[in-house]
Amino acid sequence: MNKTKIIATITHFYTEELLIDMYNAGVNIVRLNFSHAQAETTKPLVDTIKRLNTEGTTNFGILLDTKGPEIRTGVREKKYSYKKGDSFRIFVDEKKMDQDSDMFCDYPYLLDDLKVGDSIAIESGLMDVIVTEVTPNYLMVTSLGTCDIGSRRHINFPGISLRLPGLTEKDKSDILFGIENEVQYIAASFIRTKENVQEIREFLKEHHASHIQIISKIENKEGLDNIREIVQISDGIMIARGDLGIEVPIHELPYYQKVIIDACFEYGRPCIMATELLKSMTTSPFPTRAEVSDVYNSVMARVDCVMLSDETAVGKFPVETVQLMRETVEEAERHTNNKHKDFDIQTENAIELEKKHLVKHALLLADEIKADGVIVFTHTGNLAKYVAGYKPNQIVFTFSASQKVFNALPILFGVKGMKLAEWAEHTSENQEIAVNMLLEKGYIKSGDKLVIIGAKQRGDTMDPLIRITKVD
Ligand code: PEP
Repeated sequence: MNKTKIIATITHFYTEELLIDMYNAGVNIVRLNFSHAQAETTKPLVDTIKRLNTEGTTNFGILLDTKGPEIRTGVREKKYSYKKGDSFRIFVDEKKMDQDSDMFCDYPYLLDDLKVGDSIAIESGLMDVIVTEVTPNYLMVTSLGTCDIGSRRHINFPGISLRLPGLTEKDKSDILFGIENEVQYIAASFIRTKENVQEIREFLKEHHASHIQIISKIENKEGLDNIREIVQISDGIMIARGDLGIEVPIHELPYYQKVIIDACFEYGRPCIMATELLKSMTTSPFPTRAEVSDVYNSVMARVDCVMLSDETAVGKFPVETVQLMRETVEEAERHTNNKHKDFDIQTENAIELEKKHLVKHALLLADEIKADGVIVFTHTGNLAKYVAGYKPNQIVFTFSASQKVFNALPILFGVKGMKLAEWAEHTSENQEIAVNMLLEKGYIKSGDKLVIIGAKQRGDTMDPLIRITKVD
């Protein structure tokens, strides 16, 4: 069983058989990419996933990835070929354009926020231009590359702090779709400050959906500059390397990946490594050596999840890609020995601190007695989060009687969620039920050694539990 979780992007061009094959190949979470997806076409896909989950055929988590605030060029009847060295104008008012080479940009503050010498990346970084003049009506730019530019192409402004909304109207309506359809995670695009995350939390609260987890996507320099405050207020982080690789010089990307992973590690938040991990498998049955190494090294770097985008959304070999990703993840995990005692997760209050120490020492104990697995009983889900934060060396079977707690588990490193019908009165009864469930599913066997963790909060104090048991 892989401890590092696999997220796969799936579009409405799915079949039920494909979903089941992807699940059996190792997908833990389905990502719906609302940069392209529409609520109406995605609804049947979500209904199918939920039905398969209810039947027990699959156990997918669902992550809704928002489009976020984007900047684009205008509509063009036909593509225009820009050549290296060409000078042309970029406007914010389409009515003032009168030459074929003129380009429209839908960022209204373009002429105030850009200055001479700034660079602009057009068509997702395929063509960079440099600003040579700022006039009251347009920017004069010089192209550093050659590229054909069509309609509504992406524009990025590397390193420039932009006046963009945290939540757009489209994001709000897509998140409402997510709430109605009971997704577990919102991946919020272009998070730049903690206020962007707070705005989404407020929105979820207003719509009685505070249980939905917010995964902040870090995609530009401003998000990187504020990484520690964003991590603390988020339920998880996605290293969105597609945009991040345009917004920072590409050779600096590996360094920033590490900065983000370290911040997640420090605060015990799940971290998702996203984009192009096995990109060549979109069209080829075999990945490159570098791609397999990227998956392997992501596990070694201690991320919680690895994510597939085009590979599974539009790729020719979706199931093979997931299989290979899982094999590579498992291989990396075989060579990893997490050292829980080397670090401590930052903490907010005394009870949570006690819970964290409980988890950390239970995991140390599990290593020392060479336990075959760990069982966690969690009422709020926090114990499970701490388990993942301390990076267990065993699979941690996490039992909860709450559907909402259970739903939040798929993203967590090493955590295998298990649903109890209800809590029994005594821990020994819960233990017996849990062990029997695990035996029935073939996750453990007679003779296995298990460490059991639980914590019941009573007002300002807590009843901690650590036990060792040998399966009869
Ligand atoms: C990315 O930029 O890497 C990413 C995951 O976001 P999107 O696919 O929405 O561009």
